[in-house]
Amino acid sequence: MSAQNTHKRAVGIRWRLFGCLALFTALILLVLWLFQVRLLSTFYEREKFVELRESADILSGYVETEDAKQQIADYAKEKGICVRVFFLDKTQARTVADTEVSARCVIHHLSAETLDALYRNARENDGVWEERFEFSDDEPVQEGGRFPGFPVRGTSVNAIHVQLITQGENTYLMLLDIEMTPVDATVRTLENQFIWIACILLGASFLFALLLSRIVAKPLIRITKKAEKLSAGEFDTSFEGGGYREVQELSDTLAFAASEIGATGRLQRELIANISHDLRTPLTMIKGYSEMMRDIPGENSPENIQAVIDETTRLSELVNDLLDLSKLQAGTLKLHEEVFDLTQMLREALERYDTLIRHKGYRIESMIDTREVLVRADRTMILQVLYNLVGNAVNYAGESKRILVSEVVGNDTVRICVADEGEGIPPEQIPEIWDRYYRVDREHRRAVMGTGLGLSIVKNIMEAHQAHYGVQSALGAGSVFWFELPIVRADGE
Ligand code: ADP
Repeated sequence: MSAQNTHKRAVGIRWRLFGCLALFTALILLVLWLFQVRLLSTFYEREKFVELRESADILSGYVETEDAKQQIADYAKEKGICVRVFFLDKTQARTVADTEVSARCVIHHLSAETLDALYRNARENDGVWEERFEFSDDEPVQEGGRFPGFPVRGTSVNAIHVQLITQGENTYLMLLDIEMTPVDATVRTLENQFIWIACILLGASFLFALLLSRIVAKPLIRITKKAEKLSAGEFDTSFEGGGYREVQELSDTLAFAASEIGATGRLQRELIANISHDLRTPLTMIKGYSEMMRDIPGENSPENIQAVIDETTRLSELVNDLLDLSKLQAGTLKLHEEVFDLTQMLREALERYDTLIRHKGYRIESMIDTREVLVRADRTMILQVLYNLVGNAVNYAGESKRILVSEVVGNDTVRICVADEGEGIPPEQIPEIWDRYYRVDREHRRAVMGTGLGLSIVKNIMEAHQAHYGVQSALGAGSVFWFELPIVRADGE
């Protein structure tokens, strides 16, 4: 229910893509509009002034040549610029060049005062003055005003460049004028075009989003359908990728998860079956013996009572093992590390064990170092590892009933080996014996006493100590289980 609600609220990939593309399109349109429409006339006018400035530089080179008039006229006509150049005498201004390429040029219609004002402006501004003149219908050119006789009616915009040129002793005044075509009409056309462009681009982004979403979403939808099957409990669902790498990775991950979940489920079922089996058997026996002793006179014998006690012991062993294992795996069992003499612990433990099993014909031989070997570890847990390994060796010792426990002291580590001369373990089963509840001989599990948890406990304890452990085994020749602990020197290192 909640998953479906989330589906309803989340935006689909198609709309999300469309949103992104539309935003991107809008951004591009905005930039284009700003430069092409809004700032068009600004850019255009600035360019015209730049053009005049460059022309002024070139023309200044001509003013003192012999055919200055002709050269300036040729250049001015080529560029469509009106030019006036005066030689400034002490008392008067003499015309050097005068080219009028357009009737709309204002520098040829300046009143004497306006010309004087322009000259002064240039002089006060490092020899250069630029001005923009605009006429409109609202302000028709006045006869006798700044531009007497200027013929323009309607709107006109001109760029004026005034420059003082000093060549040796001589000073010249140059006036340049270029007419600027109004860009309003162009701007209006562009604005209209923009509306069309925006519509076309939005439509295109929608189609593009549709196409992209198909390409992106299709493999995802396929995998989602498979994942739904997986969540419904079909762990053998196959995930094939396709499309692109990310989808391939997703489907590989899901396939791995599916196989892991399947395997865990199988193991769990097996575990429950195993535990219930092992709990039921001693319980049935206890019940059977107890009923027999209650109902049949004379059956209340010490042997029968011992049988009940043995089965109860086995039950509590199983329950304790399960409890230890689950604590170890959950990480709640804390290590109580201490420094102790491993040699002494081995000697005492093996003696006790030997006494316990000697009457059944078993013999524990030990090759234990005579020196003190200090290790830092959880003493109780290491003892449990030792008992589990020796217990297994006893259970699987075979005919010889001989177990050899040795302590090999190296430079930094001490290795404990527990060897038996039993049947050994098939090589392909060796990696699995450390798993919880794994037992090699499943058929005759009751033939040998054991909970199937011993080695799993050993493994967890060793891993909690970050210690090395392992087994060497050959079929028919027996097995050697071993573990190693780092030695602590007397100075505490
Ligand atoms: P169990 O209670 O069955 O001994 P363990 O976890 O201690 O459970 O051992 C798992 C399995 O590994 C055993 O069932 C047995 O098949 C195999 N195994 C353990 N120790 C030995 C050994 N010394 N020799 C041969 N097989 C062994």
